[in-house]
Amino acid sequence: MVLRAGSLPPISQHIVIAGGGFGGFYTAKQLERLAPPGARITLINDTNFLTYAPLLPAAAAGTVDPRHIVVPLRERLKRTSLRVGYVTGGDPARNTLRVEMISGIVKEYRYDHLVVALGSVSRVVPIPGLTEHAIGFKTIAEATALRNQIVRHFELAEGLDDVDQRRTYLSFVFVGGGYAGLEGIAELADFARDALKRYPRCRETGTRFWLVDAAPRIMPEIQSELAEFTEQVLGRRGVEFRLGTTVAEVRDDAVLLSSGETLAARTVVWTAGVRASPVAEQLGLPLERGRIVCEPSMRVSGYENVWALGDIAAVPDPARPGQPCPPTAQHAIRQGKLLGRNLAAVMQGRQPRPFSFKTLGAFADLGRHTAVANLMGLRVKGFLAWAICRFYHLAWLPGADRKSRLIADWSVELIFPRDLAEMGQLGHPPALGEPLPARPAQVDRPLASLQPPAGQSPTD
Ligand SMILES: Cc1cc2nc3c(=O)[nH]c(=O)nc-3n(C[C@H](O)[C@H](O)[C@H](O)COP(=O)(O)OP(=O)(O)OC[C@H]3O[C@@H](n4cnc5c(N)ncnc54)[C@H](O)[C@@H]3O)c2cc1C
Repeated sequence: MVLRAGSLPPISQHIVIAGGGFGGFYTAKQLERLAPPGARITLINDTNFLTYAPLLPAAAAGTVDPRHIVVPLRERLKRTSLRVGYVTGGDPARNTLRVEMISGIVKEYRYDHLVVALGSVSRVVPIPGLTEHAIGFKTIAEATALRNQIVRHFELAEGLDDVDQRRTYLSFVFVGGGYAGLEGIAELADFARDALKRYPRCRETGTRFWLVDAAPRIMPEIQSELAEFTEQVLGRRGVEFRLGTTVAEVRDDAVLLSSGETLAARTVVWTAGVRASPVAEQLGLPLERGRIVCEPSMRVSGYENVWALGDIAAVPDPARPGQPCPPTAQHAIRQGKLLGRNLAAVMQGRQPRPFSFKTLGAFADLGRHTAVANLMGLRVKGFLAWAICRFYHLAWLPGADRKSRLIADWSVELIFPRDLAEMGQLGHPPALGEPLPARPAQVDRPLASLQPPAGQSPTD
């Protein structure tokens, strides 16, 4: 039985949610409906928006405006206090969470219940030159920086007389053959193909796209027949695959592979998996391979009032006994909805329920009205799979305004050519009275701030 908040006796408890992505947002939404009156909900996130990550490849290729794939948290949460700050640690023995606020002040938040939903970061391995020269593909900053870098490289290449030099600016390497890497390379190869129409000298040289993965096949989440179809579709668009191959070194203008081959390219996109946010190590909670160990109810093992979900949590997967849930939005959303219910139940003296969800499947949008999907074991490809992908995103992107903007972006994309304005200067104004710098602002490379976990070898 579900009791709505209005019909319950007041309970004065403070619930602090760390992280406002899929897991944290849906927990807060559910608590707004179900938590007893008097319960205070505080959500702490390092930005004031949720990033709808599955549409990052589209944002990187300019198919949708980056602002349209983020959801302002204040607009969608009515009963929750949002605090923008960076969680740096916690002391569960004292029921406190440490946060560096955007003002720079460090604050301690006291809680009756803590929900940890801080997500994951790119999984970086110690490859020489990787953090200096590669760009990640997990945040809106990276997707925007990537798009700007590609346009800037087209501009640079157009002005170069040396063909070999020009070629390195027009060549791109994606490392990682999961859905993020495949969707990313598909979108950006399309973007480059359209952009070439406006760059005559670049058109003469042509572009090259490589996808490198250590595994012998792409996308283990889908059936091998669909993986082969994906390779064929992308192969016809000029994407070259280097499977069963690892990256040995990344240089400013080349990628060296374990096979001895050198790929001359100046853009390297790292999509080779994720690991739990390293902040997990500062929270004093039990960890298993970096993820917070949880019971099936999402309660952290050994703690009555600490809960975790999403990519940062090792929540037992009911569909694969002995294994944690995979790090997907599908799981984080369902976990958030149940965790809100569980917290409301516990506050009223009832028992929490275990998480039970069987993945709906996986899909990869390959652009140009084609996708592949494994829907509960059913193989779907081509236009039907693509239409399902689009409906899926439309259904899950929170907010009618965001959905409308997405439809508008998709419609504009059908009619008009790509927007090739390079907006690297956005948000980097010159000092007052100074001219704009001749060189656009440097690309932010958030990978550079990530160090591989100690003791990890390049083959991990
Ligand atoms: C390119 C790409 C495509 C994807 N496509 C799909 C897909 O098609 N289907 C699917 O199911 N999944 C997909 N995923 C995976 C999915 O996005 C994640 O599994 C999901 O976002 C996890 O939810 P979460 O709540 O655990 O973390 P997140 O949604 O990442 O939320 C974590 C939040 O915590 C904030 N945060 C992090 N550290 C701190 C800190 N120290 N202090 C304060 N705030 C902090 C972050 O800014 C973020 O808002 C994709 C991911 C990527 C990168």
